[in-house]
Amino acid sequence: MKLRLQSLQTRIVILLMALLLLVQVAAFVVIRGSIAEQARNSVSEELLFGQRVFGRLMAQNADKLALGARVLSADFGFRAAVASDDRETIASALSNHGSRIGATLTAFYGTDRSLKSMGDAGTSGEWKTDGKRIDSLIEQADRDGWAAGPALVTSHLYQLVVVPVRAPVAIGWVVMGFAVDDLLTKDMRALSRLDISLLDARRDGRRVVLATSLAGGALASLKAARDLPAPGLPGELEMNGQDYGTLLVPMMASGEGNVIAVLQRSIGEAVAPFNHLQLILLILTLGGLVVSVVGSILTARRITRPMIRLTESARRMGAGKYDQAIAVDGDREIGDLARAFNQMREGIAQREGQISRLAYWDGLTGLPNRDLFRARLAEAIDAAAADGGACTVLLMDLDRFKHVNDVLGHGFGDALLREVAARLEGVIVRRGDLVARFGGDEFAILLPGQDVAGACLIVERVRAALDAPLQVERQTIDMSAGIGFAAYPEHADSAALLLSRTEIAMYAAKQRRAGALAYDPAFDGKSRDSLSLLSELRRAIENDELVLFLQPKLALGGGVVVGAEALVRWIHPQRGFVPPDQFIPFAEQTGFVSDITHWMMRKAASTVAAWRHAGLQLSIAVNLSTRDLMDLELTNRFEEVLRDAGVAASSFCLEITESAIMDDPDRALGTLEALHASGFRLSIDDFGTGYSSLAYLKRLPVDELKIDRSFVSGIESDRDDAVIVRSTIDLGHNMGLKVVAEGVENEAVWHLLRDAGCDIGQGYFMGRPMPVDKFGDWLQAWRPPLNSEPANVRVLYARR
Ligand code: C2E
Ligand code: CA
Ligand code: CA
Repeated sequence: MKLRLQSLQTRIVILLMALLLLVQVAAFVVIRGSIAEQARNSVSEELLFGQRVFGRLMAQNADKLALGARVLSADFGFRAAVASDDRETIASALSNHGSRIGATLTAFYGTDRSLKSMGDAGTSGEWKTDGKRIDSLIEQADRDGWAAGPALVTSHLYQLVVVPVRAPVAIGWVVMGFAVDDLLTKDMRALSRLDISLLDARRDGRRVVLATSLAGGALASLKAARDLPAPGLPGELEMNGQDYGTLLVPMMASGEGNVIAVLQRSIGEAVAPFNHLQLILLILTLGGLVVSVVGSILTARRITRPMIRLTESARRMGAGKYDQAIAVDGDREIGDLARAFNQMREGIAQREGQISRLAYWDGLTGLPNRDLFRARLAEAIDAAAADGGACTVLLMDLDRFKHVNDVLGHGFGDALLREVAARLEGVIVRRGDLVARFGGDEFAILLPGQDVAGACLIVERVRAALDAPLQVERQTIDMSAGIGFAAYPEHADSAALLLSRTEIAMYAAKQRRAGALAYDPAFDGKSRDSLSLLSELRRAIENDELVLFLQPKLALGGGVVVGAEALVRWIHPQRGFVPPDQFIPFAEQTGFVSDITHWMMRKAASTVAAWRHAGLQLSIAVNLSTRDLMDLELTNRFEEVLRDAGVAASSFCLEITESAIMDDPDRALGTLEALHASGFRLSIDDFGTGYSSLAYLKRLPVDELKIDRSFVSGIESDRDDAVIVRSTIDLGHNMGLKVVAEGVENEAVWHLLRDAGCDIGQGYFMGRPMPVDKFGDWLQAWRPPLNSEPANVRVLYARR
């Protein structure tokens, strides 16, 4: 992305460059074109001007000569010499005079228009000239008083002046001239910057150069040039690879020669100063280009830098980092965009915060939830792995929370959980330690960097924190929890394993009512069994794997069957027969026991209904557990079962263990009173194993005491047991209760109990627990011991 933006920067620079270059090149071409045109125009003007200058130059020189010639012709001595035809004196006067005025040619013609004498400034030796040309000049001088004009003398061009010598009529003609030669053309060039060449265009087409300021190559081109421009009009001629503005000026056309002056101006030369200008222009252009490259790079940066920053910021946001604000520089669009970006960033951060609060935080207590805890645990383990440290996890489950929730309501339960959360947070002091709620009444604490030994201190503090009674909504509640803890790397090498081992330790702690336990591999088998047991138990009810067994209860005096105790059996599809001792305690812990109770109640009710149908007046005793006593709906639900089966509550006895009642006596009392009011008979099971106070028992609406089998089976041999059993029987009777003895394993015990006044007995001696469908056979086969009162069992059966 950065790269692409940089290329955007490059593109901006290139575009600006290209535009600038285009404008510059166009300007350059236009300027160059107009310069060339301008230069040509000015060359034409210069040529025309040069023509005039050349004319003036010739005329001036002629005037000067004419003046000198007149002075000579007026000289008395010269006239006398002419009159006397003194050739020698004439020649010397011509020479003297001629050299004084700078004439390069002096001569004297007689009235017969023949050459009489020459000064030594004239061409030495021959004097060969076109007679007609001299004639015409003399004629003109005769007419006008003087004459001037070019003439070819001995193949050289001269500007000649002719003045008459009068005495008073013309007695001869003084001719003076100067050479129109290279010297003059060079003067002309110096004067006007024009090249001038004087050509004699012969009739045979040859051009003879009489004088020129041109140099070799150009001159040769001129001589060879085919098409010269028309005389009088500036034109162009290419010579030696260069363009020359060219103007032809005719000077003389006579029989002897056809002389033209060619004025020329090198266009290249004329353009040269402009070329210099163009060079400056070019330098300026290049300079401007460099300046604008720098400028456009800076501009492009100004545009792209905030964009790069925005891009980087967007990428950071993509990676979930919202902390860094974008520096808002530059007003206008980019600034607005950056501000909008910042607003967006804050908005996203806020919403993500909300989302993560929902996803990772427990709404009730404000603590992290299980997911967040897991993530932190993984981090802590990584850190510990990196520096060879440790990390401990605590898991706790509040005791009896479900009952609190059920009995005191969810509002109360919520308040309690918040209070527990606050206390746990008060316990941890180190940064990095973390309290989380796993849901329900389960809390966890993460202690990064702590091993088991270090964690023990915190565990103690947690226990102390929960020990203090909780005051919620003016209710005081004693709280306790099963706490398990385990450490990395001592107990597990991964987060998942560590959590599951901590859970196992917690279950062990709860099971043993041990308060807090560190993980021990010895827990493992049992716990794993328990965990799978729970799911299997659920399935057991659905799949009808539970079976109702009945064990008879009989009147000890006479041996009449009065009823039976309902005992659950689990026929596991793989494990086979599972005794209740192996799953009832666990079912009680997990609360699942209430499902079992209801299943039993329904089976018992349908059995009673069948018995009533068969004319059997027997009652069934159903066992209740601690959890059932906490269930405020229990009575209602039982009544519903009875209604469905069409049986009366009086046909049922509910057995509640002493310890279940003492777990929470107040709550138990409420439930027992409701059940009693509905007509259920109540029995205190396993009596003697708990520590219930008699004062308390007196307040309970119970009908029956059931002496625990551990005392009963010992009364034959153990005196103490016998004393306990006998006094328990008396105690029960004194309180107006029926007394039941369970665990009657032989006839001797039967008799001892009957003699002690015990009302009812139950035990292997009379009958082991059996499936419902075997109960009828047993009844029929049952014979009371010989020395007991005769029973009317047969009578009962006769009614069937
Ligand atoms: P419990 O309520 O005290 O039940 C009586 C137990 O004593 C039964 O054991 C029974 O088989 C056994 N027993 C009866 N006569 C004798 C005897 O002469 N000698 C000996 N040694 N034992 C005798 P079981 O069926 O194994 O049940 C054990 C415990 O499981 C029960 O003790 C009860 O606490 C619990 N339990 C059984 N079924 C249920 C149920 O449906 N609901 C609840 N909540 N608990 C149940
Ligand atoms: Ca029982
Ligand atoms: Ca019992």
